[in-house]
Amino acid sequence: MAYVLLEHPSSLDHDTGLYGAAAPSMRHPEHAGRITAIEQELSAREWLGFERMRTPAVDRSVLSAVHPEPYVSSIESACRAGGTFMDPETVVSERSFEAALHAVGGAVRMVDLLLDKEASAAFSAHRPPGHHALPSQAMGFCLFNNIAVAARYALNVRRLERVMIIDWDVHHGNSTDQVFRATRQVLYVSIHQSPLFPWTGHPSETGEGQGTGFTVNLPVPPGSNDEVWVSLVEHVVVPLMYSFEPQLVLISAGYDAHRDDPVADCTVTEEGFAAMTRAIARACASLTVPVGAVLEGGYALGALGRSVAATLQALSAKPAAGRISSSAADLPAITRQARRRLADLWPQLAA
Ligand SMILES: [Zn+2]
Repeated sequence: MAYVLLEHPSSLDHDTGLYGAAAPSMRHPEHAGRITAIEQELSAREWLGFERMRTPAVDRSVLSAVHPEPYVSSIESACRAGGTFMDPETVVSERSFEAALHAVGGAVRMVDLLLDKEASAAFSAHRPPGHHALPSQAMGFCLFNNIAVAARYALNVRRLERVMIIDWDVHHGNSTDQVFRATRQVLYVSIHQSPLFPWTGHPSETGEGQGTGFTVNLPVPPGSNDEVWVSLVEHVVVPLMYSFEPQLVLISAGYDAHRDDPVADCTVTEEGFAAMTRAIARACASLTVPVGAVLEGGYALGALGRSVAATLQALSAKPAAGRISSSAADLPAITRQARRRLADLWPQLAA
């Protein structure tokens, strides 16, 4: 089975221009150079053995399972009219609609490749990113929630019953949280800096109704480093995975927790992203669950390229490779507290 990198040239055509009212002379941080930086880094490493695949645009009936058709049409018309700001920092240009359809299409195609065993692991590298885009509202540089549409497709069309979404973007994925908060078919786990945009993702937000307990928010303070992020993955996310037994694992892979990133204040390194990926990939291998990652944020170009490369390398490594960086006996306080807090709903974390 191949390792697959999903991409589409339309990702370069989503033109965000200048940042807008907040910083009118500054280039928008979510720009096409992000994709170029990833491609340059991966190309210099011969794509790390990944097969490059050009993605289709998402079928609109698949998209509308998360984003109602009137909203989809409103984005299409805004682009056709030449582009506009959808909110003070979320912008569309003439070609953004096509780029956004392919960004969702990449995530959906990835689900098919993984479930059909045509890929043993995959990475969908498109822009715009997705996890802030509410069903009927563009937000936080995002137009459509790529990973949420892919997870919904896995449930509705591919008939899975349990999908786990792990979101390590430095921002809380407020849309993904909202879309799945009332279902127990999707376990959404987010590690994010707090306080930070979009100001949601408090630990007390655990889902609603039948979905109570199936939303896990793990905020970390500014300055949180590899040790904190990796220990949360190894000692909270991975045990949750063993308890939930997902049939598919999707990663909202943002790289704005990197120490070089201009939009947040965490200090994760390439090695941190590699260690998080290895921990997830190892658990997926032992549960025989397919895993794929969808690009979210990451605005320091060099760090972004190197961190995506680290993720790909870890996804394609043999599961035994790599180290466990934190021992259960010596966990950071934030990880111990999270385990204690979650033990009521997930007794396996009490150990
Ligand atoms: Zn982000």
